[in-house]
Amino acid sequence: MSETPLQFIDLAAQRARLGSAMDEAILAVVHHGGYILGPEVKQLEAELASYCGVSEAISCASGTDALLLPLMAWGVGPGDAVLVPTFTFAATAEVVALLGATPVFVDVDPITFNLDPTGLSGAIDAASKAGLRTVGIIAVDLFGHPAPYAPIEAFATEHGIWVLSDAAQSFGCTLDGRRAGKFGDVTATSFFPAKPLGCYGDGGAIFTNDAELAATMRSLRVHGQGKDKYDNVRIGVNARLDTIQAAVLLQKLSIFDDELVLRQEAADRYASGLGSLVTVPVLANGATSAWAQYTIQVESRDALAASLKAAGVPTNVYYPLPLHQQTAYRGFPRTDDVLPVSEKLSQQVLSLPMHPYLTGKDQNRVVAAVVAHLGS
Ligand SMILES: *Cc1c(COP(=O)(O)O)cnc(C)c1O
Repeated sequence: MSETPLQFIDLAAQRARLGSAMDEAILAVVHHGGYILGPEVKQLEAELASYCGVSEAISCASGTDALLLPLMAWGVGPGDAVLVPTFTFAATAEVVALLGATPVFVDVDPITFNLDPTGLSGAIDAASKAGLRTVGIIAVDLFGHPAPYAPIEAFATEHGIWVLSDAAQSFGCTLDGRRAGKFGDVTATSFFPAKPLGCYGDGGAIFTNDAELAATMRSLRVHGQGKDKYDNVRIGVNARLDTIQAAVLLQKLSIFDDELVLRQEAADRYASGLGSLVTVPVLANGATSAWAQYTIQVESRDALAASLKAAGVPTNVYYPLPLHQQTAYRGFPRTDDVLPVSEKLSQQVLSLPMHPYLTGKDQNRVVAAVVAHLGS
């Protein structure tokens, strides 16, 4: 008498809600034929900029490109060190290494999972010891929760370095009234389907108030083009967002604020059902989360995951290895041999189903399955 398994992220429920308006928006692009940098791309960029309260929003082909383009615009390269949290998705550090620069790994906070600012000065020392000049910090808003930007930005100002916010998971979150998009010198986000604001393929966007930097990134996005499209003025990439994806995002943006409310309601229900059994996520003062993931910490993680799976409750482990323990990233500098918080988190984190269309009934099923395994 096994019930249908729950969805980890239910994109079909959202698709049903968007209905024929989505079909029409996609078909409009198919018919007008402006597939590359068409009118929907410009409209989306204007709406995103106004949503975040910044002057410049630059759409691009993925969250990874949204991280890469600002680094290219700043001229990051060999000899440069960029400080990054080790407990994140690989793309955060990958873009640094791809440009020949060196990621330097910093541990994270055990409650928020985000970069621990007390590790930054040790990271500059580790970079210096390796003969590198520290040029910037990439802070990540893991699982949708904003990193502690006030101390990170103060540290960056003191050391004359930039801050890039990796808001791939946190579009829609706020910190002290500032929305993601206004964090650091530049904010990067992803529209991968499973992110809080996702399209129907790959996509991303970059936000800044720096008009000159924005112009450079727009040029880099199209092969480094100058005023004349066949006189390229710098070495760039092809990192444009497809017009069809912009059309999809415009539809999804119209229900996004409501979805954020629904995600918060789901997070509240989990906290009340599970708070006494496992370590549940806690928001920092002044922070709201976009709840890309709802991630608990539990010692017997793998056993709990197996038992939830048997009860039709899907889970995921983000991330089973911190970057400094992954094959491609092991050789890069870090503040200490052991980064204890991240190493422990990678053993204990478990992400539960989380999306705006999770009902109270679905969540009772998740809670009951956790209780059945751990005891009440
Ligand atoms: C998803 C993600 C990215 C990369 O985004 P893509 O759109 O998949 O390229 C970068 N950083 C973090 C933290 C992510 O979660």
